[in-house]
Amino acid sequence: MNEINIAVRPTEHEQCRCGICHRKAARYDKGRGRRRWRALDIGGSKVYIEAYEPRVRCRKHGVVTASVPWARHNSRFTKSFEETCAWLSVHASRSTVSEYLRVEWHTVGGICHRVYQELETANPSRFDSLENIGIDETSYKKGHKYMTVVINHDTASVVWCAKGYGKEVLSQFFERLTPEQRASIRCASADGAKWIASCVEEYCPHAQRCVDPFHVVSWATDALDQVRREARSEARQQAKTLPKRKPGRPAKGEAAPEKNQAKSVKNLRYVLLKNPEHLSENQQAQLQFLTRANPKLYRAYLLKENLRLALKAGPDEIAAALTKWMAWAQRCRILVFRELRKKIKRHFDAIVAAARFRLSNARSEAINNKIKLIIRTAFGFRNVDNLLAMVMLSCSNLHPTLPNR
Ligand SMILES: [Zn+2]
Repeated sequence: MNEINIAVRPTEHEQCRCGICHRKAARYDKGRGRRRWRALDIGGSKVYIEAYEPRVRCRKHGVVTASVPWARHNSRFTKSFEETCAWLSVHASRSTVSEYLRVEWHTVGGICHRVYQELETANPSRFDSLENIGIDETSYKKGHKYMTVVINHDTASVVWCAKGYGKEVLSQFFERLTPEQRASIRCASADGAKWIASCVEEYCPHAQRCVDPFHVVSWATDALDQVRREARSEARQQAKTLPKRKPGRPAKGEAAPEKNQAKSVKNLRYVLLKNPEHLSENQQAQLQFLTRANPKLYRAYLLKENLRLALKAGPDEIAAALTKWMAWAQRCRILVFRELRKKIKRHFDAIVAAARFRLSNARSEAINNKIKLIIRTAFGFRNVDNLLAMVMLSCSNLHPTLPNR
């Protein structure tokens, strides 16, 4: 006996109300009879609330189950249980939530969804006084699917997210804003995607389009990685043409074997992508080795690092710094970086504007990483809407609270 059952009945005032709109409605039938709702534990024992759940005929919603004051519509948990669960899932790991509350992880998704919906309808003003927004798409399901996320740069929080990407999806966000709310948007940052630009142009024609420096750096790291991959496959080809040598130590008088270049280039990946101030001594030595072994790859590395520094220049110096960088990239004889130069030239004004509006790079990167972490945590949710609800509960201003606090 590790269960406590509590039989209850709603007061007359709460009886016969529609489960969706809570208006008084006529009783239809007794529904599925007696039901149980899981409540918060008492002293380690599971607690269940037991009551009849009849159906009513609502004028607007037809035949639906009647609402009960202790639980949300279509839920088998009480409100306080769900609020505790949502709060815990934002603050603790998934195994902690499952173990502490004794629920399956996939049911947590549905709970987050219901709690989020209630919070959202209670806070219609979260779109007010939006000034600097950032629009981005993030992948989930191992990069097979995408979701669109809108963040508020000033509060470093998510204001809206939806599954899918493209102009139609983003239009849903702007459609939800009132004309005044749209007019208050001063700048919209993105990664330079055309669909975002055209959507912003349509709904907020006065807003300045920006490209986050964070995205520009990621273009450069992608380009650098491509150069590294090419260098690696070249080194591999070269290694194949070399004569094979016997295993073991070199004999007397024989020259020491050369380092396997392909391997060393492969191992350089993290060295190249890391910021130089965070490199360990060993990694710095690896970079030194690169200056002699593969000058082209080293040049690509310097180009990426200099672009990163140019983007850090203040709003007055960034245009000059970028122009200088582009002149260098023009002469660099590395195809991918010349392509990158063209891309930066296309978005030049938007990149400079981001510096002028002082969009914090670290903040947008931090929130992006947080979203990625939640996507990993929410693995196992059966519904995308539940994943989106969890993103909103963790990263927006709608924080779930513990019951009765
Ligand atoms: Zn109704």
